Amino acid sequence: MKLYNTLTRTIENFIPHNKNEVTLYTCGPTVYHFAHIGNMRNYISEDILEKSLNYLEYNVKRCMNITDVGHLTSDSDSGDDKMLKGAKREHTTVLDIAQKYTEAFKKDCEKLNIKWPDIVVPATSYISEYIKMTEKLLEKDYAYESNGNIYFDISKLNNYYSLINKNDEMVIGAREDVEKDENKKNQGDFVLWFTKSKFDDQELKWDSPFGTGYPGWHIECSAIAINNLGEYLDIHCGGVDNIFPHHTNEIAQSESYLGHKWCNYWFHTEHLNDKTGKMSKSKGDFLTVNSLIEKGYNPLVFRYMCLSSHYRKQLLFDFHNLDNMKDSYNKLLNKIKNIKDEGNIEEDKIKVYQDKFKEALENDLNTAQALTVLYDVLKSDLSGKSKLYLINDFDKVLSLDLLKEETIDNDLKIYIENKIKERNTAKQNKDYEKADQIREELQKHNIIIKDTREGTTFEIQK
Ligand code: AMP
Ligand code: ZN
Repeated sequence: MKLYNTLTRTIENFIPHNKNEVTLYTCGPTVYHFAHIGNMRNYISEDILEKSLNYLEYNVKRCMNITDVGHLTSDSDSGDDKMLKGAKREHTTVLDIAQKYTEAFKKDCEKLNIKWPDIVVPATSYISEYIKMTEKLLEKDYAYESNGNIYFDISKLNNYYSLINKNDEMVIGAREDVEKDENKKNQGDFVLWFTKSKFDDQELKWDSPFGTGYPGWHIECSAIAINNLGEYLDIHCGGVDNIFPHHTNEIAQSESYLGHKWCNYWFHTEHLNDKTGKMSKSKGDFLTVNSLIEKGYNPLVFRYMCLSSHYRKQLLFDFHNLDNMKDSYNKLLNKIKNIKDEGNIEEDKIKVYQDKFKEALENDLNTAQALTVLYDVLKSDLSGKSKLYLINDFDKVLSLDLLKEETIDNDLKIYIENKIKERNTAKQNKDYEKADQIREELQKHNIIIKDTREGTTFEIQK
């Protein structure tokens, strides 16, 4: 399999440390709010990576953290505490916020057919491991104490910037959000453990040999990955905004701690943008999986949209584009529904298409090409039985519910039923204008309602 590796900036042959066993680490969400569909694009492409590896007969062991501590609103060691901000916004505790949005994220993954990783670790459950790593980094002289905080000293490494280009380094130097911190020896140093918190009302604090405080953001991923997947990691994933400083710092502290190279392949997904630029939680107004459902879209239309483009290209989101995707997706499902389960399984022919499908995935996860192979199968002279066999086989990776009887998901059903209830109430109140409006709104989403003696029924036109 060929994969683009951010570390070498080339497409490389992927060779795991251990024959067919692959260890995969994913930076999980910061659970202070709902995930937006930009975040979900990232998890869709990681899901495709995992399932493609499975399709190519690798066994994958995957681990993901949940950031419920270490939580700053900007990428540097500055800004506000995101979790605390979330708790204040909703007048509750940081732990409640973490629980609520972890559950919400899990549901979003289910709706998008994203497999939940084998091992999922909340950052707050590994505090003793961060302390252990920080102690060792101090002992090895890669870290220092300054005014109550423990910092990693980047001048101890001569390859600190290995994950980024020299040019990017210039950009980093000019970044406005890198706050001047008088405690640091080098401005690029980053915090391993805070005891002098900028936030007086910090809720979560732990005792440590360095004083009562809390961990820096980056240490959680290093400790969770090393403890669960071992000292040699095959693939580390995340969105491109994680390359610097997060992944750069993860490499610095992990390799200094271990004393050898840590991870061979760095896999980064480009951003989903809207007209105003990169979608981000801190912008406030962002689209979620649920907001797509409320607007009448099956979430898998969004998955289909992501698969239609390459993970290393920026993807521009707008509803016009989503509507086109919805049409193609529905047409695809319709074509599949019309295939009759008849004829023979034609093993040789099937193999030809499977090889083409593999080839697309092996080519740095060319999902658009993989979809083309699927369309080629539909157009081919294969028997209905062979076609259905292949569709089922490809859907192990694509996960578009291509053969599910009823692809309408629960939330869409709830949305429609609520609208029908609203319309019935309007009719009872003789507010016919409102009742018609609701009917038209549903019609816009190809949902046709009928009033029968047994009540109102609906049908989704494909
Ligand atoms: P966060 O919850 O902010 O820690 O982000 C979770 C994941 O989503 C990280 O891997 C980010 O790099 C990724 N991400 C954030 N914004 C976007 C975006 N607009 N498009 C794609 N991925 C994103
Ligand atoms: Zn991480």
